[in-house]
Amino acid sequence: MRMIGLIGGMSFESSAVYYRLINEAVRAQLGGLSSAEVIMHSVNFEEIVGLQKAGRWADAANRLAAAAAGLERAGASCVLICTNTMHLVADAVEGRLSVPLINIIDETAASLRAHGANRPLLLATRYTMEHGFYAERMRRHGIEIMVPDTNGRTTTHDIIFNELCAGEIRPASREALLEIVASAKAKGADSVILGCTEICLILNPEQLPLPGFDSTAIHAAAAVTFSLAGKAAIRAA
Ligand code: GLU
Repeated sequence: MRMIGLIGGMSFESSAVYYRLINEAVRAQLGGLSSAEVIMHSVNFEEIVGLQKAGRWADAANRLAAAAAGLERAGASCVLICTNTMHLVADAVEGRLSVPLINIIDETAASLRAHGANRPLLLATRYTMEHGFYAERMRRHGIEIMVPDTNGRTTTHDIIFNELCAGEIRPASREALLEIVASAKAKGADSVILGCTEICLILNPEQLPLPGFDSTAIHAAAAVTFSLAGKAAIRAA
């Protein structure tokens, strides 16, 4: 089994989900009391949020690249950035590694394609929905994402940062997200990407009116495939 390196803490609510999913998958595949070889560098999210708000992406890239290099020095055979948003700086992080960075966008795209979906609604932070890095990388895989309208983007972003990352799950917010999904379905979306690693805390991808793709579960599963089976898990962008 190869050691999985996680850059977590963004937020720790979703890092805890990664840790559980990775360990559950290893136990299911290897049996007995098997558990994953994992090393995590969990950052102070308040510091990262400050850099996001200030648009200081180069500083954020340096911060995460240093964490990634530390994971590799500590024995990680692959590295995951456990947030969609911070894939905005994935290229800079990857550039500091000689082990593979397992990219959440590539893995999510592969899952969509395997299910024949190519017009997904993206539910994510404002950075992921609006900056362009996510849509552009999806396009390389032949997938054209849809995003909610301005109000829907604000609602989704605020639910993520003010509630989910703070450990709060509110039924009214679940309803608000479901309304956004229903409206996207009416406009032609064929699927939904839970494109923020905390959204699985409030929406069950099995209980949506469209096929749901949970980026957290997909990313965690890719790490386990890599750890147990080798480089087949890495998708070429
Ligand atoms: N975990 C979230 C994501 O997947 C948001 C936190 C962040 O801004 O990194 O995008």
